[in-house]
Amino acid sequence: MSEKKRATRSAKLLIVGGGPGGRVSYIMARRFGVEPAVMVLNEEPTVICSLPYGVGRRLIPDGPGATVVDLSKEKRLPPDMAKDVVFGTVTAINSASKSAIVEGTNGETEIVYENLILAPGAVPWLPPADGILKDKGAETGLVVAVSDQLVNRSRLAEGVYVLRGAEDARALDELAACAKKVAVVGTGAVGLEIVEALSDRGAAVVAIEALKHAVSALDADMAAAVERRMHERGVELRLADAVKSWAPGKLTLQSGALAVDAVVFASGVRPRLDLARAMGLKIERGLVVDAAQKTSLPSVWAVGDAVQIADAASGRPVLPLIGTLAMRQAMTAVMDIAGLPAQLPPATLWGVSEIFGLHWGSVGWGEEAARRAGFRVTSLSLPVRSRDPFMPSGKDALWKVVLSTGEDEGFKSGQILGFQLVSDGDNPAHLAERFVDMIARRETVQELFGHYFIHSPAHNSVDDPFLALIALAMGKRPR
Ligand SMILES: Cc1cc2nc3c(=O)[nH]c(=O)nc-3n(C[C@H](O)[C@H](O)[C@H](O)COP(=O)(O)OP(=O)(O)OC[C@H]3O[C@@H](n4cnc5c(N)ncnc54)[C@H](O)[C@@H]3O)c2cc1C
Repeated sequence: MSEKKRATRSAKLLIVGGGPGGRVSYIMARRFGVEPAVMVLNEEPTVICSLPYGVGRRLIPDGPGATVVDLSKEKRLPPDMAKDVVFGTVTAINSASKSAIVEGTNGETEIVYENLILAPGAVPWLPPADGILKDKGAETGLVVAVSDQLVNRSRLAEGVYVLRGAEDARALDELAACAKKVAVVGTGAVGLEIVEALSDRGAAVVAIEALKHAVSALDADMAAAVERRMHERGVELRLADAVKSWAPGKLTLQSGALAVDAVVFASGVRPRLDLARAMGLKIERGLVVDAAQKTSLPSVWAVGDAVQIADAASGRPVLPLIGTLAMRQAMTAVMDIAGLPAQLPPATLWGVSEIFGLHWGSVGWGEEAARRAGFRVTSLSLPVRSRDPFMPSGKDALWKVVLSTGEDEGFKSGQILGFQLVSDGDNPAHLAERFVDMIARRETVQELFGHYFIHSPAHNSVDDPFLALIALAMGKRPR
């Protein structure tokens, strides 16, 4: 019987996971002198948010391979980083002895640490449906969640795709090169980005959504513009539908069968919590952390998609699943470990994307989601033109603001709970950022007076949309 090789090393900081949360933790550890820092990676690091654009080729003509982060050359990473990277999967952590076991291709490594950052991220989630899994697969490697079970990705049946890493994007890229018709399940940002990518590559696409309208982050009135754009571009949209079963070439939905070459599940993700659970960490919707990203155990911090936060507007626990937040959390955790003051304030969720030239964004609570949560809300809808009427290059947009009526405890009357936008025009990211701040600071619509509006004819129309929103809100008040 051959003995398994086991190497040992020690670290001031051990980081589990090499996604945005793990990588930024590593960069910050080097910057703040928390060394040696060791990062365990179990897959190729990528600029994950760009993966659909690698498949679509419009923004990344070289394909998904271009999004892979080369640890030895990437300018944002220290050039000698490779010495601190262990390739493999952390399979066990003993928080009492402060040691972790990494199963790598060349054997096991035991890492003894002083401080631990967990950044295991999230995995694609697929609804249970007949035929999407093979009976057998590999024992180790990346996983997906099917219903509430983690299963090895190698068990995904032929023709079943997900999108989380470089390997997935390469597989989709190959599919895009030859597929005639593909079904995409889920119409969130990732689903729509992959719909656009496959469509740009010449495939006919059917988008399947369980809800009554596309894009759960938008309300039906706002999502209608996205649906129209999909329709105009030849994407078939099946709403209020669900996958019953898959057999190569045939997808059976509740509404009937479809002949497609493949099915791509963009049906959401679930936080990866198995290690945290085995360590006995406090978990609710995700890992519970304080404002410095400390978990319920000493010397253990957690960042990224596995972590829940307090929603700034309501205080309720939410899973943000946002890369930019993962990076802030990473900086906060490392500063705390380094003994520097760092507290991350509560945040609000957002989703901003674009499909076939139509930009959409959602910040905070949608009206439908707020009502489902039991909040009493009202909303304001404002058509906004991006240029003055005498400028033919102007584009139309629609804004929607969701306000508390002030009848719920903890909310002020007119408190801005959500902002949505669909726009044919310019990049909405800066606008969405302003509303992220307003919502996180629990501002009211009247406080829009304090948000100065800049007009420059080359960039926008002379009408101040913030004043228009205040006027709309005043018009709703009982006199
Ligand atoms: C297609 C797509 C587009 C997106 N677009 C945007 C966007 O535009 N803007 C934005 O802000 N966010 C976006 N996101 C969300 C963003 O990518 C995530 O919020 C972010 O990746 C979270 O980072 P993370 O480090 O927590 O987790 P992940 O990126 O999931 O990384 C975690 C890593 O840890 C590994 N791991 C898990 N367990 C172990 C273990 N035991 N041992 C070793 N390694 C382990 C995982 O395999 C994975 O590689 C997008 C996500 C996707 C999938």
